[in-house]
Amino acid sequence: MSGYPEYMQASLKKVAATRPARLEKAREGREVVKAMTLAEREEVLNKFHPDYLPDARKPVRVGPNKDEEMTSRVVDLLESYPRINPDDFDLSEPDYDTDVLIIGGGGGGCMAAIQVANAGMNAVLATKLRVGDSNSMMSQGGMQAAVNPHDSPTIHYLDAIGGGHFDNNPELVQAMTMDAPRIAAYLEELGVMWDKDSEGRLMTESGGGTSRRRMLSCRDYTGAEIQRVLRDEVKNHPDKITIVEYSPAVELLLDEAGEAAGALLYNMETGEYN
Ligand SMILES: Cc1cc2nc3c(=O)[nH]c(=O)nc-3n(C[C@H](O)[C@H](O)[C@H](O)COP(=O)(O)OP(=O)(O)OC[C@H]3O[C@@H](n4cnc5c(N)ncnc54)[C@H](O)[C@@H]3O)c2cc1C
Repeated sequence: MSGYPEYMQASLKKVAATRPARLEKAREGREVVKAMTLAEREEVLNKFHPDYLPDARKPVRVGPNKDEEMTSRVVDLLESYPRINPDDFDLSEPDYDTDVLIIGGGGGGCMAAIQVANAGMNAVLATKLRVGDSNSMMSQGGMQAAVNPHDSPTIHYLDAIGGGHFDNNPELVQAMTMDAPRIAAYLEELGVMWDKDSEGRLMTESGGGTSRRRMLSCRDYTGAEIQRVLRDEVKNHPDKITIVEYSPAVELLLDEAGEAAGALLYNMETGEYN
C-alpha cells in the first residue's frame, strides 16, 4: 500500500481488514455488499456527483445550440469570447488545403482519416497533442459488439436504447450496434489482438446494462490496443493523410452558405495560427 497517497491509507486499511469476511460470504454464496436502495443512491448522488449540483446545468444563450441545456462548464466555454480577432487573419491563402479536415486524433478521428484515405481522398488530421493522445487511448474495459450466436445487433440495439433511458439518438445507436461486428472484424484485420479462448474464438465479457455477454477486450488495455493499431494505420498513408500535431482548432471557418469549411489551428509549439 506504499504507493498510495496518505489520505487513502485509512480507507485501504479498512478494505484490507474486511476482505476475509467478504471472501467468506462470496464462497458461501451470500450477498457480499448490500445493494443500496433508490433513496440511498439519490442521497449519495446529490451529495457527491457534480452533475447533481443545483447549478450543474444551464441553457446556452448563443449559437446554433441556443436554449439547449448543457453542463455549465461547457456553456461557459461556448459563451466565452474568441481567442482571436477574425479581422487579423487573411484567409485567402490557407496553410493546408484538403478534401477533408478531421479535428481530433483519437479513435474516431483516426478511423475517419483511414476511411478518407481508403476512399482515395486526402485528409488533414489536426489534433491538440499527439495522434493517439486521447480518451480512446485510456479506455480499458472493452468494446461491445454482438458477435456471439445467441446475440444479435437488434438485441444490442434494444439494450443500448433502454440503457440510455430512450433518450439517445436512434440513428446513431442503430449505426453503432449494426456496424459493431463488422468494425470488430475490421479492427482485427488491421492488427487488434482481441482476447480469444483456446479454440481461437473471441472472448466476451458482461458489460453494464447489457442482457448478453458481448464485450470484446484486449486484456485491460483495450483502448490502448485499438488506438495503437489505428495510429499505425493512419501513419501508413503519408501520401493521403497529413498529420498536424500540437494544433488545437480554436475557431471553425464557415463558407458563404454558413457551412463549416475549415478551421483555425493554434500551433502550440510556435504560438502561430494556421
Ligand atoms: C478512463 C476511460 C475509460 C473508458 N472506458 C471505456 C470502455 O471500456 N469502453 C468504451 O466503449 N468506452 C470507454 N470510454 C469512453 C471512450 O474512450 C470514448 O467514448 C471514446 O474513446 C471517444 O473517442 P473519440 O475519438 O470520439 O474521442 P477521444 O478519444 O477523446 O479523442 C478526441 C481527440 O480530439 C483531440 N481534441 C480535443 N479538442 C481538440 C481541438 N479543439 N482541436 C484539435 N483536437 C482536439 C483530443 O486531444 C483527442 O485526441 C472510456 C473513457 C475513459 C476516459
